[in-house]
Amino acid sequence: MTRTVFTGVQVFDGTGRDPFPAEVLVEGNRITAVKDRVMRVGARVIDGGGGTLLPGLVDAHAHLGFGSTVEHRSRRRDEPDEEKALLVAHAGRVLLDHGITSAYSGGNRLPRTETAARKAFAEGWMPGPRLKAASWEGSAGMVEPGVYDFPGIDGRASDPESVSRFVTDMAELGVDIVKLSLSGESAVVHGTSRIVQFTDEEVAAASRAADHHGVWLTAHAHAAESIKMAVRHGIRAIYHCTFADEETLDLLEAARDRLFVAPTPGIIHANLHETDSEPEPGMEVEATAEAVREVVPELVRRGVRVVPGGDYGFAWNPVGRNLRDLELFVDWFGFTPAEALRAATLHGGRIMGMGDELGLVREGFLADLVLVDGDPLEDIAILQDRRRLAAIMKDGVLHKAPA
Ligand SMILES: [Zn+2]
Repeated sequence: MTRTVFTGVQVFDGTGRDPFPAEVLVEGNRITAVKDRVMRVGARVIDGGGGTLLPGLVDAHAHLGFGSTVEHRSRRRDEPDEEKALLVAHAGRVLLDHGITSAYSGGNRLPRTETAARKAFAEGWMPGPRLKAASWEGSAGMVEPGVYDFPGIDGRASDPESVSRFVTDMAELGVDIVKLSLSGESAVVHGTSRIVQFTDEEVAAASRAADHHGVWLTAHAHAAESIKMAVRHGIRAIYHCTFADEETLDLLEAARDRLFVAPTPGIIHANLHETDSEPEPGMEVEATAEAVREVVPELVRRGVRVVPGGDYGFAWNPVGRNLRDLELFVDWFGFTPAEALRAATLHGGRIMGMGDELGLVREGFLADLVLVDGDPLEDIAILQDRRRLAAIMKDGVLHKAPA
């Protein structure tokens, strides 16, 4: 069994408590000791030089298959399937290079690529994060064969039976998550974020099918009514939550122990500042930013688990930039750096469904660790510089080791 010891580090354990000096022993794929001094016999020793050791970071809204990373930009959406598969594999390696050791997928263009990547990453013969694989995205409209046209805004869902069949088909492909675009998306099809694309009966049918097949549902939901629908039907992860009104906030609060909200500041920031073209009014870019900056602090105040993950994968918001979400959690939502990190680790482990063994630097937990050259509690933005990530370990294996 391989043994690795991290010495000379301040441990941020993921709970949110202050970092403390300790040595961390990894044996096989588990953390087996976190204490003042551990046995070094037969171990590879990594001296952190006073840096910070974090739990591996979790992205709760990852798109491995959208085509763009910090190393490769693609504006196409019509690559042949083989190329789409390679893009997913490529994005997995880029995520891991940037300290993302777990990714909860926010949807794909070709779901079997994510299930294949999940296996390859888990078996360790391709570099990539732990992955919860998602279905292709869509409105109810896209459950009809051939209607698929991301994000499938048609303002009109199909019928409960075909929605149920869509969930079943996706479950049979082996995905962990089925994503439903309950609202539209103004950034893609102007003026549609406030449109609800499903009926209550359709979401109820999706929920029953998901329970039956043991898959999770994720909702893309900007409009208040779409968020309410997601909560009513027990949807576990809700993206955006932009236009939540008072009644919606009350519902979210009442369900806070069974759901997660990922408000995706990354894509909003990119839409505001990093597109080639001026945002058009129908995109509601400013309105979205304003609303989300009001809603998220209120959700946090009410104890809702808010997790980072900013829809990275588009050419103007590429994979690899993911940890900018943590900076935006601080700047936009008033998190402390420790709270932002806790959201990406403790809550990250929980959204992965692995809260009892993932997301903390703790004896018995899986050895996903990131050694940072510096103190991210002082400056959370240093995490976006991959050169400052001195070591990256996933499942006890060093993806990156100090020189
Ligand atoms: Zn997304």
